[in-house]
Amino acid sequence: MPVEVKNVVKIYGNQRALDDISFNIKKGQILGFLGPNGAGKTTMMRIITGIIPADSGIVSVNGIDVMEDSLKVRERTGYLPENNPLYPDMYVREYLQFVTSLYKLPGRSRRVDELIGMTGLGEEKHKKIGALSKGYRQRVGLAQALANDPDVLILDEPTGGLDPNQIVEIRNLIAEAGKEKTVMLSTHIMQEVEAICDRIIIIKNGKIVADDTRENISAMSGIKKISVSVEFDSDVDPDELTRIPGAGKVIKVNGNRWIIESGDDEDIRAGVFSFAVQKNIMVLSMHREEKNLESIFRELTG
Ligand code: ADP
Repeated sequence: MPVEVKNVVKIYGNQRALDDISFNIKKGQILGFLGPNGAGKTTMMRIITGIIPADSGIVSVNGIDVMEDSLKVRERTGYLPENNPLYPDMYVREYLQFVTSLYKLPGRSRRVDELIGMTGLGEEKHKKIGALSKGYRQRVGLAQALANDPDVLILDEPTGGLDPNQIVEIRNLIAEAGKEKTVMLSTHIMQEVEAICDRIIIIKNGKIVADDTRENISAMSGIKKISVSVEFDSDVDPDELTRIPGAGKVIKVNGNRWIIESGDDEDIRAGVFSFAVQKNIMVLSMHREEKNLESIFRELTG
């Protein structure tokens, strides 16, 4: 198993930053590690990469215990830390040469060229890192994380602070790298995992609140995915709304606007319309809403 995390606890003062966390990442998976700020994402990633120790529990990468042989783990792991610390006064190529020299790999110059090609840094390779845009600095960070051709890639908020175009570019690079690697990426943005991850773990206050495929998380959360948002021209009795065939929970938004959840994820718009005709009231507006992962994430961590 590329990554195994068993009963990990990390305590800062009297705060349990990680509170008995267990999960595995299978070979080739792209795992989205999601949670609000302060949930414990960075702490977990630092423990997996051997930068800080856990207080208890076991973490292994490729079957190697991180606490026992963190150097061996680092040989097979690539890590892009949060805020991507780089040396602004170094040139792109010079920096990547420096990084590859740390791994004492043969054919370093060729590897630097490969990294520059893979991350689209060809045009910028002679610039100082400090002169690059944030998106290109992030590419340098990714090239750094890929330097040793790792089996496991750990990316902490890889698209944080980027503009929408840069986000897409970095996501594409991650998806490309993820084709032949096991990837764990943290984010507090749900769309991020919707775009590239095949599995999601959601953590809150150092505990896992969901761990499954995207589809199963939607189903498991028990949240009805389809609802109808409707505005009538006059007041209605909520009890009567719940009697519309297929209707589930009814929520008053304001005035005469309502959200009617579908009890079994069926479209109930025709029923709502018949109800209005029967009661001789008008439907001013009506549309079907599908809950996305974003709202599920908010409900699980809110
Ligand atoms: P996330 O990456 O999800 O935003 P972190 O792992 O950075 O969360 O932090 C989890 C919790 O642990 C936070 O409440 C944070 O303040 C706390 N924490 C993290 N590092 C330290 C530290 N070195 N000392 C004290 N508390 C810390």
